[in-house]
Amino acid sequence: MEVKLAKNYGFCFGVRRAIKLAESKPNSITLGPLIHNAKEIERLKENFNVVVNENIQEVKPNQEVIIRTHGITKNDLEELKKKTNNITDATCPFVTKPQEICERMSKEGYQIIIFGDVKHPEVKGVMSYCQNEPVVIDKLEALKDIKISDKVALISQTTKNVEIFLKIADFLIPQCSECRVFNTICNATFDNQDSARSLAKEVDVMVIVGGKNSANTKQLYNISKEFCQDCYLIEEAQELQETWFIGKQICGVSAGASTPNWIIDKVVERLKSFK
Ligand code: SF4
Repeated sequence: MEVKLAKNYGFCFGVRRAIKLAESKPNSITLGPLIHNAKEIERLKENFNVVVNENIQEVKPNQEVIIRTHGITKNDLEELKKKTNNITDATCPFVTKPQEICERMSKEGYQIIIFGDVKHPEVKGVMSYCQNEPVVIDKLEALKDIKISDKVALISQTTKNVEIFLKIADFLIPQCSECRVFNTICNATFDNQDSARSLAKEVDVMVIVGGKNSANTKQLYNISKEFCQDCYLIEEAQELQETWFIGKQICGVSAGASTPNWIIDKVVERLKSFK
């Protein structure tokens, strides 16, 4: 079986930056997991004693704290600043951008509509910058029951599906006199989604490698599954089952933005060992 990697896959700029920052701050804590990849979080703990702590109340005076790539809420940031001066902000700049847009546009009286998952830490952070109650939807259909204001600002979670985002914009524009559409889907997401889409069209089985709690990994899986029915999402090489590949000629591989190369390499190596 031939194994083909997507043109763009794996680590993005924001995750690479966050890991470098974490490696430069041994013995620190991160507020929530730095990135959505349990194996990489384990590696940071073992090699650098960088540990995850979800509870801001447990931060000790002037402890070294790293803010995760997904960012934190405005309130949590204020709380944290009262506890320590040693804060390293690893929030991805692509996440800071929608936070700023939310703050500015809500101040100007726009109804904020966020295309995202309300439970995702990135979206919770972005919502906290709104001066009014934002609307959060994860599909176009959800908008149909919502009262749309005359002035709307639309933003997206950085890892959302661009095609659905465009459909949402298309639905909103005729309904208000002013609809500001901010493209806050990050480049890494665009590139990885595009490459996975093209690859899924030309292979007969597809493997997506990444954290099962990672939004961008799940998007890659959903997009690939549209074009290649036999599609599997795994976190590590041991999950691969040889029976998935019986009779398959070409296997495509892509990986989420928080999947390190050492995990992808092991997956490719194992795939190549299957006959
Ligand atoms: S996927 Fe995009 S937004 Fe998320 S960390 Fe990577 S570069 Fe930043």
